[in-house]
Amino acid sequence: MASVMWFRRDLRLEDNVALKQALEESDELLLLFHVNPDQFLGEGSSNQAAFFKSVDTFRKEIEEKGGRLHLLYGDLKECFKRLKDTFVDWTDIYVNRDEKGYGLKRDKIAGRCFKELGITAHGYYDHHIHHAGEIKTNSGSYYKVFTPYFNKWKELQKPGIVKVKFDASKINTELLFKDDSEQFESFLDKQMPLEGLEVGTHAASERLKSFVDSYLSEYKEARDFPMKDATSHLSHHLRLGEVSIRTVYAKVRNAEPSIGRDTFIQELAWRDFYNMIYATYPEQKEQAIKEAFRQIDWDNNEENYQKWADGQTGYPIVDAAMRQLNETGWMHNRLRMITASFLTKDLLIDWRWGEKYFQQKLIDYDPASNIGGWQWAASTGTDGVPYFRIFNPTTQSEKYDQSGDFIRQYVPELKTITNKKIHDPSKLTVEEQEAFSVIVGHDYPAPIVSHKRSRELAIQAFENSKKAYESAKSDE
Ligand SMILES: Cc1cc2nc3c(=O)[nH]c(=O)nc-3n(C[C@H](O)[C@H](O)[C@H](O)COP(=O)(O)OP(=O)(O)OC[C@H]3O[C@@H](n4cnc5c(N)ncnc54)[C@H](O)[C@@H]3O)c2cc1C
Repeated sequence: MASVMWFRRDLRLEDNVALKQALEESDELLLLFHVNPDQFLGEGSSNQAAFFKSVDTFRKEIEEKGGRLHLLYGDLKECFKRLKDTFVDWTDIYVNRDEKGYGLKRDKIAGRCFKELGITAHGYYDHHIHHAGEIKTNSGSYYKVFTPYFNKWKELQKPGIVKVKFDASKINTELLFKDDSEQFESFLDKQMPLEGLEVGTHAASERLKSFVDSYLSEYKEARDFPMKDATSHLSHHLRLGEVSIRTVYAKVRNAEPSIGRDTFIQELAWRDFYNMIYATYPEQKEQAIKEAFRQIDWDNNEENYQKWADGQTGYPIVDAAMRQLNETGWMHNRLRMITASFLTKDLLIDWRWGEKYFQQKLIDYDPASNIGGWQWAASTGTDGVPYFRIFNPTTQSEKYDQSGDFIRQYVPELKTITNKKIHDPSKLTVEEQEAFSVIVGHDYPAPIVSHKRSRELAIQAFENSKKAYESAKSDE
């Protein structure tokens, strides 16, 4: 049997469910990646640059093993028709399926196309420890709140590592799509270079090992402090499957028992939870899950939005975080919560604007986790922070960047401030401003809004939306 293994978010040759099946069931196997221009985000997107850097690395990894990753570039249906015309014996295709969002929509279109071409498609679950449909309440509905979901999640047996026997002699290495490789390379040349970013399966397994050996046991205490940088940095590897989630789970589970280990496992469950939530509420990229908060009268001031995006709000911790994102394509989790809260509550800007900005920038962009994180911070999600519990960016900064060193790293114009007013330079006296050479409003912006006033306005906006919803309900 001649088959195709279509890679998408599973760029590895080990512990890969669909690949194992494809290798076992085929006499000849063509390894494929399809570049879909529908998904392009523009040349300034670090998300896109990281994605294709990873594809390119995977292509080289396959070549080192004596195989070839064939690249198709262009409209999905036309590409597969062209493939069938060229690879005429092709009868079956293997994929690790997507359960939600764009990936699900694409898989439905591809499924119809395979039917027309007479190709049998085989789909597997691979991306999560427990896939979206696996965990339900005793009455058969989906969980809406994380804690009971997690209680059930913990009880279930976990999938083990899937052993793949990579047999290069079965892999089709004929050069079928020379033009598409050239197109891919010229596209790749136009992406941001992201020089410091390590991608690929080797980097992913090194990262997993060093995190488990050096940071796992302290994860619970250290993970909230950006300057400690004590989280795993596995997110961009997991996003494209450079390491399998089963391998991560097994490695962590086999480590010495510690609170750090248990807390980390809980984070992996959040990843499954948000995947399930996105599959259950497919409209959530554009719509608040909580109906009561669909009528918020957002301020949506474009100038303030731009200052937030550029890290020029006058709130040092927010600015440091946004500059970390803009410079590296990654942001620490505590800071994602602070910046998302600041945008939606302090600036009263629609969470969808922030979600899209993160989509453009994050090297670990995952729609389910990003939308989940944004709806959590905006209090519009299924298990979000209550709308009246609003983060104070200055006290968050004093708590999680006590020394101010994280701010100093990303906001160099505040480097000279040696006292705790680094968390709120607007409090510097005239003498201090001169002594530190930081003139507020000149060297660094004054706060663009007052947190105290914004907090009141945000609570009012959420309550107005809630009232409008309740009154419409009572009129029904
Ligand atoms: C507004 C907002 C947007 C976010 N957007 C994304 C995103 O696009 N992609 C993404 O992977 N994560 C996202 N997160 C979750 C979290 O911030 C990142 O997973 C984490 O910072 C990645 O760094 P790490 O790998 O060092 O995390 P670690 O702390 O080492 O966690 C290990 C892994 O667990 C998973 N994980 C951890 N926390 C969460 C969480 N809250 N939700 C879901 N999975 C989690 C990730 O896969 C992560 O790699 C977002 C959170 C917020 C508040």
